[in-house]
Amino acid sequence: MNYYSTKNKDISKSFREAVIEGLPADNGLFMPEYIPQLPKDYFETIQDKNIQEIAFDILKPFVEDDLNEEQLRKIIIKTFSFDFPLQKINGNNYALELFHGPSYAFKDVGATFLALCLEEFYKEEQEECTILVATSGDTGGAVAAAFSKVKNIEVVILYPSGKVSELQEKQLTTFDQNVKALEIDGNFDDCQQLVKQAFLDADLRKHLNISSANSINVARFLPQMVYYFAPFIEFGNEPLTIAVPSGNYGNLTAGLIAQEMGLPVKQFITGANSNDVVPRFLNSGKYQPKPTIQTISNAMDVGNPSNFQRMMDLFSENKIKEKVKGYAFSDEATLEVMKKVNSENDYLLDPHGAVGYLSLTEYMKTSEGIGVFLETAHPCKFMDVVKKVTDKNILPDSAQALMQKEKKSVKMEVDYERFKEFLLQ
Ligand SMILES: *Cc1c(COP(=O)(O)O)cnc(C)c1O
Repeated sequence: MNYYSTKNKDISKSFREAVIEGLPADNGLFMPEYIPQLPKDYFETIQDKNIQEIAFDILKPFVEDDLNEEQLRKIIIKTFSFDFPLQKINGNNYALELFHGPSYAFKDVGATFLALCLEEFYKEEQEECTILVATSGDTGGAVAAAFSKVKNIEVVILYPSGKVSELQEKQLTTFDQNVKALEIDGNFDDCQQLVKQAFLDADLRKHLNISSANSINVARFLPQMVYYFAPFIEFGNEPLTIAVPSGNYGNLTAGLIAQEMGLPVKQFITGANSNDVVPRFLNSGKYQPKPTIQTISNAMDVGNPSNFQRMMDLFSENKIKEKVKGYAFSDEATLEVMKKVNSENDYLLDPHGAVGYLSLTEYMKTSEGIGVFLETAHPCKFMDVVKKVTDKNILPDSAQALMQKEKKSVKMEVDYERFKEFLLQ
């Protein structure tokens, strides 16, 4: 499998090149050249498989030119090392819990897979590399945890000062050695812009091997296809409606590719907070990026989602509007549903999962069948919000220990030259 750029279909890179380069030089995003098809009867026997076996089937065609079966198996076993349980909330509505990994968020899957791929590739080349990652909250913690154990790779994490939760900040700023945190006086888009600029800076790249760990890296977003298969281990080949709370749209794009491979998704739903460019586009036709608005589901505070390019590359405008239904919800509605589900169904949603649940139940008012929404993070990552819903202590022991550690970060204005200096020092 080779990968082209959304800005230039003539570019053809191997998986390894696409992973290491992160972003194509033309500022597009890498896309797989074709979408492999699962055998027609795949879902008839899916109930006999576990998630690691499924991951191997799904990911092999995307990576097989650069990772042999043994390498891929090893990476998969470490990546899919925790459960993806389905929890019934009420009626036909289920939560697919993606937060049982090391940083309590679904991003652990992509971050770990990427870290292990890079470890293999740099081991072979005997070179060192710096990973740049901009985070609006959850990416950084997952990346920090994933890379803290990997050799020869340094990580620089940029996060918007004051805009991530306390636990998230601790997850970014308490590793020593190869994981460094930059606290940027700006928002997520500013952080992302600095990272993009570094990738486009030929001079910097002469001096430093850099790579990306954002959802724009193909090794981040491809493994996210896998957990979409988890509900089908339970429900077999019954088509399901799946709702995805979205910010930068990497997760949804992975689901759409899984569906193109043959996953029987009846309908995809996307839920946004007030950063609603994509639902607006799906409902009105115009794509108008906006400045980021801060909300209680801060990992989805993205005003101009990168992966929109990928969605538009996969499908025509009319097709994407058929394939995905979009809704947006205010913080008030989000908090209200968290309280309601907690008291009526004894289930504590996190603010992102709550947006997913809201979008699912909104769509289900006029549709039938089983609905699944992605519960993308553990509620303990958003204690400021959760405190308004319950006063139970929900912090897992491992998180409790982390909260006691000392924060280490470097503060910085939104200033590319200073950022570059920092990288080169
Ligand atoms: C990153 C994140 C999202 C949004 O995922 P995208 O792939 O950026 O759309 C949703 N919920 C949580 C908890 C996240 O960390």
